Amino acid sequence: MKFADLGLSDELLRAVNDAGYDEPTPIQASAIPSVLMMRDVIGVAQTGTGKTASFVLPMIDILAHGRSRARMPRSLILEPTRELAHQVAENFEKYGKHHKLEMALLIGGVSMGDQIKALEKGVDVLIATPGRLMDLFERGNILLTGCSLLVIDEADRMLDMGFIPDIENICTKLPKQRQTLLFSATMPPPIKKLADKFLENPKTIEV
Ligand code: AMP
Repeated sequence: MKFADLGLSDELLRAVNDAGYDEPTPIQASAIPSVLMMRDVIGVAQTGTGKTASFVLPMIDILAHGRSRARMPRSLILEPTRELAHQVAENFEKYGKHHKLEMALLIGGVSMGDQIKALEKGVDVLIATPGRLMDLFERGNILLTGCSLLVIDEADRMLDMGFIPDIENICTKLPKQRQTLLFSATMPPPIKKLADKFLENPKTIEV
């Protein structure tokens, strides 16, 4: 399988080439076409398998091809830790360097001021930990009604950290008509239950 066969745009193929990748990893080969076809996806994959690019690459193409004039956030990536949120943001910058997409990194431990300013300017993508996202939402700084693409990453770590009630709460604030991607290294029963509740006819990919 080649990157060129997955349905990504030329700009993304350029970014992949610049990153020095020869071939898609198995999770990328399976997930990227499904995400581009707007399917819900469950990716059972550990870190190190290339799973971040398997959602960031197609997301950039989806976001680049439909622009909201209001620049309300159109997608949300939930991460269990600040470090992971940072890494995903770096991936977004690396692969999205040929696009003009704006993102906001909403994590705890830093002041809310800059995050609120970024939100006011308008962003396409939110990369957030659940706690800070809920804080900003409850203060009225974020509108989630335009977020029709949701990624729940590292779901089993979210479970270990007690974030499932927050995630359920966040899911109810997003539009019902949306695409949802869930990644997890393992699928314990509470994660299966979460997926059953919030994903529709998902394609399950195990690597
Ligand atoms: P992840 O599993 O998303 O944490 O990615 C693990 C590492 O693999 C990261 O350092 C990526 O830059 C790298 N990577 C992702 N996709 C590929 C690929 N197709 N070929 C080679 N390396 C990759």
